[in-house]
Amino acid sequence: MKCSPALSMALLQHVCSVPLARAVRSRSLTIPTQTVSIPSPSRVSHGDSHVLLGMSEKELQQVAVDFGQQSYRGKQLHHLLYKRKVKEIQDFSHLPLAFRNDLHEAGWRVGRSVVHRAVTAADGTVKLLLKLEDNRLVETVGIPVEDDKGSFRLTACVSSQVGCPLRCSFCATGKGGYSRNLQRHEIVEQVLAIEEVFNRRVTNVVFMGMGEPMLNLKSVLEAHRCLNKDVQIGQRMITISTVGVPNTIKNLASHKLQSTLAVSLHAPNQKLRETIVPSAKSYPLDAIMKDCRDYLNETSRRVSFEYTLLAGVNDAVEHALELAELLHEWGGGYHVNLIPFNPIEGSEYRRPYKKAVLAFVAALESRKITTSVRQTRGLDANAACGQLRNEFQKSPLLADSDTLQSQVDIPVAC
Ligand code: SF4
Repeated sequence: MKCSPALSMALLQHVCSVPLARAVRSRSLTIPTQTVSIPSPSRVSHGDSHVLLGMSEKELQQVAVDFGQQSYRGKQLHHLLYKRKVKEIQDFSHLPLAFRNDLHEAGWRVGRSVVHRAVTAADGTVKLLLKLEDNRLVETVGIPVEDDKGSFRLTACVSSQVGCPLRCSFCATGKGGYSRNLQRHEIVEQVLAIEEVFNRRVTNVVFMGMGEPMLNLKSVLEAHRCLNKDVQIGQRMITISTVGVPNTIKNLASHKLQSTLAVSLHAPNQKLRETIVPSAKSYPLDAIMKDCRDYLNETSRRVSFEYTLLAGVNDAVEHALELAELLHEWGGGYHVNLIPFNPIEGSEYRRPYKKAVLAFVAALESRKITTSVRQTRGLDANAACGQLRNEFQKSPLLADSDTLQSQVDIPVAC
């Protein structure tokens, strides 16, 4: 894999991995519970009216016409944004200088952010920290996978919020608090930044980075449209993940997308779920399962149930059997994705032993539940699932000079 020269400004910083063997199993672990009320999905205005990225070809044609240009200039804008991935209006060399100047003077901009830091894990997973216009930082992760037959997949794990208000007990992002929703272009640009690092097309997008996508559904849907129609990533290659926000799964279903809905269960019953996902108190398990059924009925897309295995908490065979029962009652059209917990600093939780994971899988499979275990990627870059966090999550950077890594070359070790 080659790193693009355009990213030569970023810093490679390996972060120590936590030895998995250190995990000690204990069945008596108790996790303090807290009440987290789910905020209403945001109704703030989405899509900065002076940002080009995220706009459709039609909208770009309208921009051109509004500036007294012929509409084909909008097509050119589209090409420059999504094919050539040009970051500054001044560099739109296909366009007349007068048009570029007019756009610039009217306050228009492309809407791409600076890479503040890049971290590469030993397995090639790359985490980028993008510095947004208000100096807040957001993380995005690129996960390259080459299968046995030599086919290559590049997954972008994108964030939908700066931080997250839901505070799931095992999640590093939740511990860092919430700052704000991302706008559509701030989601789309994450995918373009990953393409730039890897110098390859992103094949899959998962909304599993920082934030709860359903709390920012309008921007997520706008970004989804752009990623599908403009960046040309198939809807089936896009997964929207949620821990559950009342009334939003139904809303998503009404759009009849051909994308996968991934619902983070993490427990086979309401009581245990509330200890792991505090916001579950506002959205009971049976209501979530019903909404997932409606999603399947509306879209004919199977639902993926995500289950983070926490040693001594929810990883026993009896939990697996209870989960199987829950899913059998629910019906067909699902898949279970098990995620062995990734250790994070300051967490009471521990990673399950491999033996426990295998026993959990066997129990589910014995009940004919299709199951996969997510391969842990990027542990040494703190980029694995649940580990997206940084010291700037809540507060913006203080000064532009904080983009200190911009001078350093990223080694071609990635
Ligand atoms: S797991 Fe997802 S929803 Fe829960 S706190 Fe973390 S980012 Fe938020």
